[in-house]
Amino acid sequence: MANIQAIRGMHDVLPEQTPLWQYAEKIIRDVLSSYGYSEIRLPAVEKTELFKRSIGEVTDIVEKEMYTFDDKNGDSLTLRPEGTAGCLRACLEHGLLHNQVHRLWYYGAMYRHERPQKGRYRQFFQFGVETYGMASADIDAELLLLTDRLWKRLGIREKVHLQLNSLGTIAERLVYREALVTYFQQHLETLDEDSLRRLNTNPLRILDTKNPAMADVVKNAPELINCLGDDSRQHFQEILNTLNDLGVSYEINTRLVRGLDYYSKTVFEWVTDELGSQGTICAGGRYDGLIEQLGGKANSAIGFAMGMERLLLLLETLDIKFENTVDIYLIRVGKQAEKVGLRLAEQLRTQIPTLKIQMDCSSSSVKSQFKKADKSGAIYALILGGDEVSRGEISIKALRDEQQTQQNLTLANVVNFFKNAQNVL
Ligand code: ATP
Ligand code: MG
Repeated sequence: MANIQAIRGMHDVLPEQTPLWQYAEKIIRDVLSSYGYSEIRLPAVEKTELFKRSIGEVTDIVEKEMYTFDDKNGDSLTLRPEGTAGCLRACLEHGLLHNQVHRLWYYGAMYRHERPQKGRYRQFFQFGVETYGMASADIDAELLLLTDRLWKRLGIREKVHLQLNSLGTIAERLVYREALVTYFQQHLETLDEDSLRRLNTNPLRILDTKNPAMADVVKNAPELINCLGDDSRQHFQEILNTLNDLGVSYEINTRLVRGLDYYSKTVFEWVTDELGSQGTICAGGRYDGLIEQLGGKANSAIGFAMGMERLLLLLETLDIKFENTVDIYLIRVGKQAEKVGLRLAEQLRTQIPTLKIQMDCSSSSVKSQFKKADKSGAIYALILGGDEVSRGEISIKALRDEQQTQQNLTLANVVNFFKNAQNVL
């Protein structure tokens, strides 16, 4: 019988890969907390209606990417394709948005039924950030400064660039929409099937097309930035001023519309050239209208989400070496030594909680246990046999020293030895 395999597009993260994940996750959490953001944890499943109402019916996600199923009682449920809708649902449900300001982040798996390829999966991880109750351009700028700092801390700042645009208000976008439809109607012959359909439903999304045959017609389309009113223009300019003041480079991309319906004013993407057409590692924007759309009181909101797999692919290009090794490998030979050794390992972990100890449980020969000690990458091997036990001693070998020096310690002294060795561990 064939072995059961993972679902296409859903990946295991193997032990040799987890150190890199943990490294990135820690830096991200540290940077978020240095700006005063708090974590929120959300369910992986929500009512399908939530995503339809927030993301919009005529978007890639809702049209074709959602994992939707009927619960046993007939409710239509969906594995979350993104976190913004669920986060807002939770905040409305728990009354967090009454005259309050929030800076939140979440981390978890998202699900989209897409064609799997490098940087595009059916289960992928996002760090998401959502802020509520702040209308000023300073919060838009803060998100850009925060992400800029994050890339610097991760050492990938040179590999990503910031693209920015303003989508204006809903009213401004309606004016633009008409101009855009008129323009595309003069070029019907160059539009592909998806775009022809979108012409009546969501014409702005045509600008987002990845079809190279449409590159020219999209390039010459009227620009939304020319339809913005004074308020939107000023908001956008204030963000640019802050970025200029603080020396964060950016590029205004007037065709950046983002896939989701709920954005207004600022939208942005951090893009890399290293990952082919899956080049966006972080994307977001302002979505002031969404709170009302989901039944709340009109309020400001802006956030972003970054794709961890794409970020890690980028980190891998830096070839940073990570070792997930232990400090001590404990070799035990014989029944008596196994018992004493187990107790000693526990005692060491209690006395020095940061110490990483791996205990050999194979009951095999000293030689084979030594091989495993070398392979483990440990700094020290502790060797306990019947002789040592009867003398109340243990042998310790420095595995990374060229001479591999070995000495004996009394069992009573082991804890002290490793307390003193903390600076080399
Ligand atoms: P794309 O245009 O690449 O499909 P998107 O606009 O659908 O991206 P968002 O919904 O804005 O993406 O999600 C934010 C980020 O999450 C993306 O920039 C990307 O890094 C990551 N992401 C989105 N979809 C996937 C996926 N299927 N696999 C891996 N990462 C993804
Ligand atoms: Mg997508």
